[in-house]
Amino acid sequence: MSAVNFNNSYASLPETFYTKQNAEPAPAPQWIKANTELAQALGIDTAFLTSNAGLDMASGRTAPDGSNPLAMVYAGHQFGGWSPRLGDGRALLLGEVIGTDSIRYDIQLKGSGRTPYSRGGDGKSAIGPVIREYIVSEAMAALGVPTTRALAAVTTGETVIREIPLPGAILTRVAQSHIRVGTFQYFYSQNDKASLLALANYVIDRHYPEAQNAENPVQAMYKGIVTRQAKLIALWMKFGFIHGVMNTDNCQIAGETIDYGPCAYMDTFHPMKVFSSIDQQGRYAWGKQPHMAHWNLSRLGEALMPIWGNDDDTAVAEISAELDTFSDTFNENFYAAFAQKLGLPELTQKTASFLETTFEALQNNKIDFTLFFAHLRRSHDPIYQEKFITLFETPEAAGMWLSQWDAIKAKSGITASDSQEAMDAANPIYIARNHRVEAAIQAGVAGDYKPMDDLHNILQAPFTQQSGAGDYELAPLDTEVVQQTFCGT
Ligand code: AMP
Ligand code: MG
Repeated sequence: MSAVNFNNSYASLPETFYTKQNAEPAPAPQWIKANTELAQALGIDTAFLTSNAGLDMASGRTAPDGSNPLAMVYAGHQFGGWSPRLGDGRALLLGEVIGTDSIRYDIQLKGSGRTPYSRGGDGKSAIGPVIREYIVSEAMAALGVPTTRALAAVTTGETVIREIPLPGAILTRVAQSHIRVGTFQYFYSQNDKASLLALANYVIDRHYPEAQNAENPVQAMYKGIVTRQAKLIALWMKFGFIHGVMNTDNCQIAGETIDYGPCAYMDTFHPMKVFSSIDQQGRYAWGKQPHMAHWNLSRLGEALMPIWGNDDDTAVAEISAELDTFSDTFNENFYAAFAQKLGLPELTQKTASFLETTFEALQNNKIDFTLFFAHLRRSHDPIYQEKFITLFETPEAAGMWLSQWDAIKAKSGITASDSQEAMDAANPIYIARNHRVEAAIQAGVAGDYKPMDDLHNILQAPFTQQSGAGDYELAPLDTEVVQQTFCGT
């Protein structure tokens, strides 16, 4: 038995799907972090992962037995503009494993050198984005949000040049697959109907097996993708998450959060909050994410036209009908999530206006999104009630909101314990705050991974108050606010 039981399927797809090649071996790799818990869930020998042989795999020095490294091709709309060929410009799919949950997972190296899809790039990653993706993707998983995972992070011993010279690094990423809306768009734009069909069949088989027996499997697959995206975006918004680069190449078909570039959880609430310094128009703001996901999904619908299996008019009508379900699914999940956050049984049309009032209060009083709900869930304790009130600009404003909340709760008939239980499960105390992530990155650049480890450990139990972790709850001071997160990954 080998250390990693690769069981590859993507490598058997037609050659139009990828370019096979090996990683550029890192000259002097060193560990940043290895995720033994995830390794266990993937059936990967943890002793192997943390050994020198594991380091060699995670740094591209050796392609382990059974792997079949390849760079996937895809296209995509980036900030609305069309790029006909993107692809893994600095990543390689090593292969797939079947997890202990019987789900097939990709094992991918990110930052492992140039590929035919690198365009002008160096194919490398700097340490900062690797640390960010490790922390934030693992934090997302702990929050219960579908996401790609981080299996390992290593430095390469090389220097990469970004705005300044930085240590090079590689992330080993795990995903249900790396197929994106942009993968479909690529074959659509190439007029390659055979590959488009092969891709759809592969996706149905791997991610939407229930679609196999539908009258129109492609339509059933599309329905599934629309539903998973709508649920995902509602979850992002529940936790104040802003993805930052919702390009079609970062919109994953299995419905996981992918590509942690200029992403962040918002501190002070504002529906138009953005995090990417190159997103000047606010295209990917917190409150615009449903709209953007819908736009990405309509690009997917377009790409599926040639294989929809009906005349164009019927196909357009059916695609539009599926796409129209996005809003309902999103709203249902969004309102259910916020009802839970507020300790209410459900948000009916009437109580939905209370949510509007709440968002207005958050915005007008410039309140930290996470603290608002984290303090609210503990407001039975006078200390936290006081903290909650202090979040508002005046005690009167807090009092007004609290009396409305009490009235709505009383009217809803929810018991105190059910209300508490709902809030405890929906309102994290710890999130991967941007200023903390940046501090972990700064320390990591200097070779000190303790701030990363400390932050990571706390974020493994985001809903549980942990002793000695009080500082990790706090919103950034004015001087700590990270003004811009660059896309320079
Ligand atoms: P991303 O911004 O990470 O979604 O990447 C968009 C596209 O640019 C993908 O095709 C990446 O593979 C490619 N890319 C990003 N950074 C690099 C790099 N340093 N070298 C080569 N390609 C890159
Ligand atoms: Mg990407």
